[in-house]
Amino acid sequence: MLTKAPKGTKDILPGQSSKWQYVEGLFRDICRTYGFEEIRTPMFEHTELFVRGVGDTTDVVEKQMYSFDDLAGRNITLKPEGTSPAVRAFIENGLYAQAQPTKLYYITACFRYEKMQKGRYRQFHQMGVEIFGSESPMADAEVISLAKDMLEKSGMKELELRLNSVGCPECRPRHREALKDFLRDRYEQLCETCKGRYEKNPMRILDCKNENCRRLVENAPLMLDYLCDDCRAHFEKVKELLGEMGITFVIDPWIVRGLDYYTKTAFEFVSTREMAQGTVCGGGRYDHLVEQLGGPGVPGVGFGMGEERLLLLLEEEKAAFPVTEGVDYLLVTMGERARKMAVKIAGRLRKNGRSAVCDMMDRSFKNQMKYANKIGAAKVIILGEDEVEKGICSIKDMKTGEQVTISADHVDNL
Ligand code: ATP
Ligand code: MG
Repeated sequence: MLTKAPKGTKDILPGQSSKWQYVEGLFRDICRTYGFEEIRTPMFEHTELFVRGVGDTTDVVEKQMYSFDDLAGRNITLKPEGTSPAVRAFIENGLYAQAQPTKLYYITACFRYEKMQKGRYRQFHQMGVEIFGSESPMADAEVISLAKDMLEKSGMKELELRLNSVGCPECRPRHREALKDFLRDRYEQLCETCKGRYEKNPMRILDCKNENCRRLVENAPLMLDYLCDDCRAHFEKVKELLGEMGITFVIDPWIVRGLDYYTKTAFEFVSTREMAQGTVCGGGRYDHLVEQLGGPGVPGVGFGMGEERLLLLLEEEKAAFPVTEGVDYLLVTMGERARKMAVKIAGRLRKNGRSAVCDMMDRSFKNQMKYANKIGAAKVIILGEDEVEKGICSIKDMKTGEQVTISADHVDNL
């Protein structure tokens, strides 16, 4: 128990962490070029936020939340997604009173009690963005374009954008009735969960992972055929703008998305490889979520991108990550006086932005040189008795084997 991490969690180890830093750095930079600023919200919120925000008929709320009572009896939930907390912060801090739109990005851990699989964990990480305050299809297109830039720049090639519109409270009821009519005869064959969804939220049935339910809804009426004029015009504009941006997509009328708050645009970026968990990014518009959570009637659109899935897909595609260099200098010392000199020299090198490490294991000279190779040191600075006596450093280039000697006073120039 003690030496085993909880099921569904993963350590990000040295060697791996540089890839995370790379991908997150790229994301931050792309967000900056689109004019987004970072928001950091707490790891936990009042459970009620997710029940109301994500929706009580969703898988996330029904069976995946890490909820508990804190010592004062408050019901708390570790965040299963980033949007509801961002909305809560947007309302609480009155960000809607500033010039709109509000454009936010986040990088966060998320928690869902899921069945562990490749690309599906209980603690995972999302990079996401939200635009609050704009109804314009331009906001939808910008968000999609940002996600695409991110995926492409990180090296993903086998990628497809799938697009749908899930309508609005105007037009959804008509589709809902048509769907219920269609499912009425098939009700008995639905899985238990979907039976529960039939009255509360029949659209969710279209998203059920159960094979039998999938077959049953194969010819079900599709939301796209029921869009009201406003939703249809909006969808047309989004498609037109994507065309202008040179972004190709396929219409996928089956995209429902796992969370209840979506309206109008819904999209996913999916790997075209044969992958069980191929959806790397999902998002869409949520024009009523802010209001639903107690704020003003402010529309929103955004996405969440799974970092584990992105890294997994990049590895599958054998994408090149920038190599992380070893240290610049290892200080190889002999004797106590040399060690004292080494810490001073290391300090000066570091002040200049060079990385420098000293031996802390009392290795022999020979083993320190071997260690230099192991950690990929570009150069070693040898400090033996002679060097200490004369106040000099012998510097050896580990690649070329070339060796030069400089005065210790000159290490600042290295
Ligand atoms: P899925 O259909 O795969 O369960 P979802 O619709 O539940 O995904 P979202 O809530 O939209 O996913 O989350 C956005 C992204 O976060 C997903 O596209 C995926 O890349 C990632 N993601 C979601 N759940 C997990 C998980 N348990 N482990 C790892 N990544 C996840
Ligand atoms: Mg899910």
